[in-house]
Amino acid sequence: MADSPKDIPEAGRTLIKNIGLLLTGDLDQPILDSDSLTIEDGVISGFESKNADRVIDAAGCAVAPGLIDGHCHPVFGDWTPRQNQIGWIEMNVNGGVTSFLSAGEVHLPGRPKDAEGVKALAMVAQRCFANFRAVGAKVIAGAPVPELDFDYTFYAGLKEAGIRHIGEIGLGTVAKGPDAARVTSWCRELGIETIMHTGGPSIAGSHLVTSSDVLEAQPDVVSHINGGPTSIPHNAIRELCRYAKGGLEAVHNGNEKSTLVALEGALEEDRLSDFLIGTDAPAGSGVQPNGMLRMATLLSCLGGLPAEQAWCCGTGNVAKRRGLQQGILQKDRPADIVFMDRPVGSQGTSVLDAMVMGNIPGIAAVMIDGKLRIGRSRSTPPAARLPLN
Ligand SMILES: [Zn+2]
Repeated sequence: MADSPKDIPEAGRTLIKNIGLLLTGDLDQPILDSDSLTIEDGVISGFESKNADRVIDAAGCAVAPGLIDGHCHPVFGDWTPRQNQIGWIEMNVNGGVTSFLSAGEVHLPGRPKDAEGVKALAMVAQRCFANFRAVGAKVIAGAPVPELDFDYTFYAGLKEAGIRHIGEIGLGTVAKGPDAARVTSWCRELGIETIMHTGGPSIAGSHLVTSSDVLEAQPDVVSHINGGPTSIPHNAIRELCRYAKGGLEAVHNGNEKSTLVALEGALEEDRLSDFLIGTDAPAGSGVQPNGMLRMATLLSCLGGLPAEQAWCCGTGNVAKRRGLQQGILQKDRPADIVFMDRPVGSQGTSVLDAMVMGNIPGIAAVMIDGKLRIGRSRSTPPAARLPLN
């Protein structure tokens, strides 16, 4: 199920040929006119046909960057205590997700709240996931949740320990604007990324965060602007789209209507490149292995966003905002790649047609660092075509 700690990229050159549609994940050029992609030692080396050590025939499938779930709540291993479920990361890879960004390891039973415990947990989570990659998935964890009694030295200590982002402000006792603003300014000074819960409490014991709290704090990412799961009012969402400087994130565990309001708000402000999608899973609503696919499809079918741009919201947009190499199919970036097609039975000729009509893609194979990790997905409907290798 899980690969060894010595998870290394596929050695040698791989050619992917007969690509039916090449999605880049980059909003500046979401579709690339090429039918070939080459990989050297797990890294994309170009888009022309070349001799290679191995050849994968995409058989007309679309090739796209693996999705990055920019908002999830892992704990340890491929297990979540929230639903007492195992294998959720592996099933998400089956749903086209190749990278996961922790928004806080908050579901750990008995999670510590004191400064030393919180820092220690973040370090252990970060180090464990650096060594443990379920079917090759990259989990970037170690996201400590701020509490009111943590001072500047706490955050400086995180920085020293190699922690580069914190968990959602608002899941702990820091939730009000002035307190949150203190934390974001310290983190900004230290170069630590900040994200902030938005909306009603996610579960008994967490806190309500309003648009004014968020605007006062100006986090790097407005976490689930569409609620996680309870949304702020629509006019407050629009206010955030106008005045919040950070990424505007919508999640699967949120309010669907508010997702569409947020997308509209982002488009009105010409901020599609700031629009990010995630799942917020595992959460009270469970784990949906196709959550990222469902979000991209929702933006496209009900939000009216061209499907190739919707894919960017869960790949390149997240990569650019969070400083990741993966998420864009471009020379010198990791070959984290999804092969997909319209699902059997869907109208249209391409996966993009399927998404526009509200059908999620059929995932045909997933590659991470140039290695094929899964074939036909166990969580999506069957793709009409499958790559041959
Ligand atoms: Zn949240």
